[in-house]
Amino acid sequence: MSETVTSRLAGFHKLPVVERMEKVAQMFGWEVERLEETLVGEGGLRPEVANQMIENAVGTFGLPLGLGLNLQVNGKDYLVPMAVEEPSVVAAVSFAAKIVRASGGFSADADPPLMVGQIQLSRYGDPSEAVKRIESHKKEILELANSFHPQMQRRGGGAKDVEVRLLPAPEGPKGEPILVVHLILDTQEAMGANLINTVAEGVAPLLESMTGGRVYLRILSNLADKRLARASCRIPFSHLADFDMPGEEIAEGIAQASRFASADPYRAATHNKGIMNGVDAVAIATGQDWRAIEAGAHAYAARAGHYRPLSTWTLEEGHLVGRVELPLALGTVGGPIKLHPQVQLCLRLLRVASARELAGVFASVGLAQNLFPAQWDPKLGIHVT
Ligand code: NDP
Repeated sequence: MSETVTSRLAGFHKLPVVERMEKVAQMFGWEVERLEETLVGEGGLRPEVANQMIENAVGTFGLPLGLGLNLQVNGKDYLVPMAVEEPSVVAAVSFAAKIVRASGGFSADADPPLMVGQIQLSRYGDPSEAVKRIESHKKEILELANSFHPQMQRRGGGAKDVEVRLLPAPEGPKGEPILVVHLILDTQEAMGANLINTVAEGVAPLLESMTGGRVYLRILSNLADKRLARASCRIPFSHLADFDMPGEEIAEGIAQASRFASADPYRAATHNKGIMNGVDAVAIATGQDWRAIEAGAHAYAARAGHYRPLSTWTLEEGHLVGRVELPLALGTVGGPIKLHPQVQLCLRLLRVASARELAGVFASVGLAQNLFPAQWDPKLGIHVT
């Protein structure tokens, strides 16, 4: 099946919805009736399953599901399921991915799935003594952490490191510094929030007894900056020529917009919104926690103390070069994936073997979405989303 899957489906946008489904079913060797039932019929999210997912469920809520086409990442084709209410998002990804595909496709990679659990200690007495005690007992802390999820360690994941941070007291020089222990966990194929929270809760009493302090807050951090994904593309100017504008001028316009975003948070917010248009749509379709992704992306964008764009576009030797980097805490297991039939179907459409591969696809979709200008119009100028 997978050898015959291509994301280059000429004329797909002109087909009626039912014929699009037929084409996909044929390509994947699925029964079109089953596909139709899951996407638009009774086989989708049933109220009784919705009731297992959240509290006070009264029904389900629909969104259009489209397929982003033409995407090629590290030489592999991906049909990208995108759940989104905004027109032009799916078209923009498909259009940009077509240009990038003709230029060799996207290159992408992602870090191992390391996540941070935060445990805040208060009323711990002498700060340097507390830090010393925790640092000298790292092994014991890690052993205890792994005892709460031995299965994860058997998979090759689990607790890997302990970091101690002392943050200046916000109230003033006389207040107690904030003492935070970071538990670094490898969550393998899971996004990991529930897993981390369980482990952080389990380890908290040990940290209290070690320091004499008190733990109130213990939860994962959504700034997943140990779990970054990157994508890049390199497009010859000639591949950009469109709308009666020379490719070089279009490239210049996009690079100028990128410079603007680097200098101005007002522009950077919209620039990053363009990236997240693509990322969020595929996140919703594949059952990811898109609030977590959003929170992580914007915190990462502001890591230098001011808000910056997550991607850059530069002119390099006759090419427009795009690069994006953002934290992506994704899962191919857990969360709604185990319950939601449409999410399961969307993941099968994507044909990813791991959460890291999925993160490379997400980053490429974000970069594709960021490339496509809402209007490439010589009279109006370039309006980049
Ligand atoms: P789950 O707890 O649903 O699933 C993770 C579990 O899947 C693991 O603990 C593991 O359990 C099992 N699993 C099976 N195979 C694998 C594998 N190959 N690799 C890793 N785990 C595997 O989800 P998460 O812990 O990922 O948490 C994500 C959910 O938490 C999302 O729904 C999110 O919305 C929510 N959440 C988010 C928060 C935030 O972002 N701030 C806060 C709280 C919750 P086992 O070992 O037992 O098989």
